Amino acid sequence: MSLPALKDFRGEQIDMTCSRCDRHGVYDRKALVKKFGSHTEFVELRRIMAIGCDRRGTDECEARFPCLLAANILIEGAR
Ligand SMILES: [Zn+2]
Repeated sequence: MSLPALKDFRGEQIDMTCSRCDRHGVYDRKALVKKFGSHTEFVELRRIMAIGCDRRGTDECEARFPCLLAANILIEGAR
């Protein structure tokens, strides 16, 4: 089973928030598809988006996509 990618989300906008680093952003899905490709997985996207996070790449960073939770799309499968 592959991880959810941009193509799996149908909303117009994708929001990302990190409560730990106090960041919040709203992105246009079409723009992201154009930039990264529709097959880009959200875990990958999160890594890209969290670049501005003070604690990116650590367990301290909690960057996530509320819009995906609302759509019941879980981006992290079993590890
Ligand atoms: Zn963060």
